[in-house]
Amino acid sequence: ESTSQNQPIALYQNANQSDALGKIVLEAELKRAIEDRELVVYLQPQVDANSGTLVGSEALVRWPHPERGMVSPGAFIPLAEEVGLMPELGDLVISLVLEALQGMGDKAVPTSINISSDHFLRSGFVTYFQRQLEESGVAPHLVKLELTESVLIANKEHGIKVMQALRDLGVKLSLDDFGTGYSSLSYLLELPLDQLKIDKQFVDALDRDQRSSSVMKHVISLAHELELEVVVEGVETQEQWQRVAAAGADLIQGFYFFRPLPLAEFQQQLP
Ligand code: C2E
Ligand code: CA
Ligand code: CA
Ligand code: CA
Repeated sequence: ESTSQNQPIALYQNANQSDALGKIVLEAELKRAIEDRELVVYLQPQVDANSGTLVGSEALVRWPHPERGMVSPGAFIPLAEEVGLMPELGDLVISLVLEALQGMGDKAVPTSINISSDHFLRSGFVTYFQRQLEESGVAPHLVKLELTESVLIANKEHGIKVMQALRDLGVKLSLDDFGTGYSSLSYLLELPLDQLKIDKQFVDALDRDQRSSSVMKHVISLAHELELEVVVEGVETQEQWQRVAAAGADLIQGFYFFRPLPLAEFQQQLP
């Protein structure tokens, strides 16, 4: 994981800053990799905050590249966004996740898929997603879609309509990266959501600052007031686990428990 974290960032920065040709090559390679379905998803387990047992997962895309190794999304998602490849990439991720859930059969756990705003706001997204879901035979309640505030910046009313239509299918909706945006708290009241994901930045602050624990407690209790499930991301130590559990989190996702795992390894962790 550590090599795949470092190497790809250099790859994208190179391509972006100093080498326009490199960027064009990378774009072409990514486009082809998506068309040829060469991307894969890793699943990072989510655990019950009190017991630490595996109860769900988040799908995170990876690009197994013949020369560059396993490339992390930080290296190609920004490019994919810039050049408008996110809808295609997202369609592929959806089908990979549905396949993975199918393959888990009765052992399948609720799994989250990151949806970019381009993809989410594409006309026909709901119909497309519904058809994929039906063809896969996967139970809708096993699928969560993770959205960020950015989906609502352009057109909130439209965004909320799409969210409602997705919930009508029986899938759950999660607001990702909470605490990194702007009008976060007021959004919570307006959006049809099932889950809130508190960003790693909050967890990191716990180590530095006494008041952070009480901020986290209040955010979690407000979320619970709104009947949202709360996932805290980025727990890396036992102390952080204790603080996050004490603050009332429902689920935890972090390296202390599990890193993102290739499908076969994830399956071995299922109860
Ligand atoms: P994200 O959605 O916030 O996903 C969580 C990221 O935090 C993942 O990085 C995960 O490996 C990392 N993480 C989890 N626990 C810990 C921890 O304890 N410590 C640390 N240091 N990191 C932790 P990853 O897989 O590199 O993904 C980065 C971002 O790329 C994601 O952030 C998401 O914004 C985007 N991304 C990944 N896969 C997809 C995808 O399929 N579609 C879209 N649209 N975006 C994706
Ligand atoms: Ca996410
Ligand atoms: Ca996140
Ligand atoms: Ca993030």
